[in-house]
Amino acid sequence: MAIQKTEKVWKNGKLIPWDDATLHVMSHVVNYGSAVFEGIRCYAPNGSPAIFRAHEHIDRLLNSAKIYRMDVDFGREELVAAMQDLVRNNGVWPCYVRPIVLRGYGEVGVNPLNSPIDVYIANYPWGKYLGSPEEGVDVCVSSWTRIAPNTLPAMAKSAANYMNSQLIKMEAILNGYAEGIALDTNGYVSEGSGENLFVVRQGMLMTAPLGNSVLPGITRDSVIQIARDLDIPVIEKMIPREMLYLADEVFFTGTAAEITPIRSVDKISVGKGTLGPITRAIQKEFFGIIHGTMPDRHNWFTPVPVKQAVLST
Ligand code: PMP
Repeated sequence: MAIQKTEKVWKNGKLIPWDDATLHVMSHVVNYGSAVFEGIRCYAPNGSPAIFRAHEHIDRLLNSAKIYRMDVDFGREELVAAMQDLVRNNGVWPCYVRPIVLRGYGEVGVNPLNSPIDVYIANYPWGKYLGSPEEGVDVCVSSWTRIAPNTLPAMAKSAANYMNSQLIKMEAILNGYAEGIALDTNGYVSEGSGENLFVVRQGMLMTAPLGNSVLPGITRDSVIQIARDLDIPVIEKMIPREMLYLADEVFFTGTAAEITPIRSVDKISVGKGTLGPITRAIQKEFFGIIHGTMPDRHNWFTPVPVKQAVLST
């Protein structure tokens, strides 16, 4: 999907014109992938904008930066306020919000420590990422393994990790699938190129623990909380590949993918190949909250104060 530009980008505390948010080709990040970032949705549950789990996303961003020894000049509350300011100023919602902390233009060479740290936030309209939430998607197990522990840290949402994701995604798409599921270095289920994965078997909801090279997904956490609210047993557990073929239901979770059912894996139908009851029950709660038809009982939204509630996309 082509980027739809908005008016301003937040850069190091200031709003600058979208077209001025550019980098020199010799910036450290361009050559060595030295950036950590977030992908956040701002919904419009009651007509006015509200950022979904803004604090948790900023916490993960700052954690990613910490792993890579990047000192960020802005704190949690400042970055949440920056996202609110940006969304309000650009007047576009619902939208996707993309904060990124990167190593800019300074020194050549791998050593990142002497290149400046720049923080940018952009926002832009964005719709569905994968297939329909009812019909689901056909996926494959990737021939690419997810980044192994102690190579690139999977708990960091770093730009470099997405070179691995790109291999998974390209292979899947070129072979006619919507997405690929990567196994970890020991052959256990890890995650999609940009989504966590849940499996339902005999009424039990399972997802891979963080040790299986998965990103600590915010949607993953939301789904675990919803499952607990609904008294659906949920465990973090190592999942062998063949469980994907024997599962009653499988679904992806992610900011972009939201909750997307998987109807087949490697051309083997998941359950009956239709939306299963547990996926449906969890979707009902999740979509109810994000669309504002159910109360935000976990305080997941950070409202963006705006004078007039205009749905501009
Ligand atoms: N895994 C990967 C590799 C991702 O890129 C994403 C998307 N950020 C996820 C999982 C899901 O995380 P979240 O629910 O926080 O978007």
